[in-house]
Amino acid sequence: MSERTLVLIKPDGVARGLIGDVIARIERKGLKVAALELRTLDVDTAKAHYAEHSERPFFGELVEFITSGPLVALVAEGPRAVEAFRALAGLTDPVKSAPGTIRGDHALEIGENVVHGSDSPESAAREIKLFFPDRF
Ligand code: ADP
Ligand code: MG
Repeated sequence: MSERTLVLIKPDGVARGLIGDVIARIERKGLKVAALELRTLDVDTAKAHYAEHSERPFFGELVEFITSGPLVALVAEGPRAVEAFRALAGLTDPVKSAPGTIRGDHALEIGENVVHGSDSPESAAREIKLFFPDRF
């Protein structure tokens, strides 16, 4: 049973040269990269992607950051891909995130935590459609 998840290597991750590190971890785990694109998000796409957080106090900051430079959007595929990538990424707060995880190894600030991963198969379907319309 294969599943897909949307991964973003956020602008901080791209700027810091972590594209290869993140993709290597995804592949080492056994997930397949099924789509991949480097792009800079427009504000409307960013707001749609993070719509669930629109009432949160950090929403403006989040949209500003995610549109601040190029990011990598990719679809990772494999058994329990959503959960598998969330485990690779670590916790939202990188300081609480275990060493060995992407965020635990590479970040200190919650607002600049290197990667995004869909939080459920339903979110993944919505997010993949937003980033890769008509591809799957
Ligand atoms: P995750 O990315 O782990 O799924 P959330 O969906 O809760 O986390 O939040 C989306 C993103 O918003 C986080 O990855 C983080 O970059 C940012 N964020 C979350 N909480 C805060 C906060 N309290 N202050 C600033 N940014 C935050
Ligand atoms: Mg989330």
